[in-house]
Amino acid sequence: MSTLDLFLEMEDGRAAPSVPRVREVRTRVALPASRLPGLDYSLNPYVGCQHDCLYCYAPYVTKRPRGKWTEVLARTDLPHVLSKELRGKRGTIGLGTVTDPYQEAERHLLLTRRCLIEIIPHGLAVSALTKSDLVLRDIDLYKELRGEVGITVTSVSPELSRAMEPGAPLPARRLDALRGLTEEGVNAYALIGPLLPMLEERDVIELVDALAATGIERAMLDRFRPRPGMFDDIRARPACKGLGDGLERAHRERDYSALEALVRRECSRKGLRCVDAF
Ligand code: SF4
Repeated sequence: MSTLDLFLEMEDGRAAPSVPRVREVRTRVALPASRLPGLDYSLNPYVGCQHDCLYCYAPYVTKRPRGKWTEVLARTDLPHVLSKELRGKRGTIGLGTVTDPYQEAERHLLLTRRCLIEIIPHGLAVSALTKSDLVLRDIDLYKELRGEVGITVTSVSPELSRAMEPGAPLPARRLDALRGLTEEGVNAYALIGPLLPMLEERDVIELVDALAATGIERAMLDRFRPRPGMFDDIRARPACKGLGDGLERAHRERDYSALEALVRRECSRKGLRCVDAF
């Protein structure tokens, strides 16, 4: 039995022991056009995301029920469909525009890795975005590809990360990944996004100091944009009522212009170029 067989939910409904349950879905289009700036196509090997960030807006954009967002569907035929769609294409592929391409499922299924292997001979650039240090596994491929790897870091606080991004690797591992990528010559940047409204000045200073120490030269900044119903969805989680209330209050009261100015000031002080995400 292959790793894939073990990992995927078995046909009779039994899940293989000690591995997350992931369902398999067919791919209709591997490379839809992207409307995001700088990207020509989107590539998302998974539907849903085990990182389970409270601020994730993807379920609201994709109209998937919020409560089902961590039920991951894997496009196991994506590398095959992609290989046919790549012919004659030029431009930049955004990898992970909707869901994280290096969530835990990828460790077992290698769909992202197999897609990158398909892309290399065609010469398209790849702009990948993740919260996981699993990206380091594919460093050999990123050294061959044109493009960049972004890693999202919203704070250096493990407590805040555990609360806001309960399924994602902690910030220290993401910082290590940024360091590993830059040391290997991969074009890497940090996404400070969403810019969490509860950050104090000392949090921003610590965050930017830590990012600069990884050797990256660029940080991207994205504002917190809660979708309708998001705070209620957070409050509806067991034990998250206070967190939902606190986040909503911080968002309502926060002067984002001042917070962004603080991030830009600290980036400038540490020699990091700071650009707006969208
Ligand atoms: S890593 Fe991205 S896609 Fe996954 S839950 Fe977090 S914000 Fe959503």
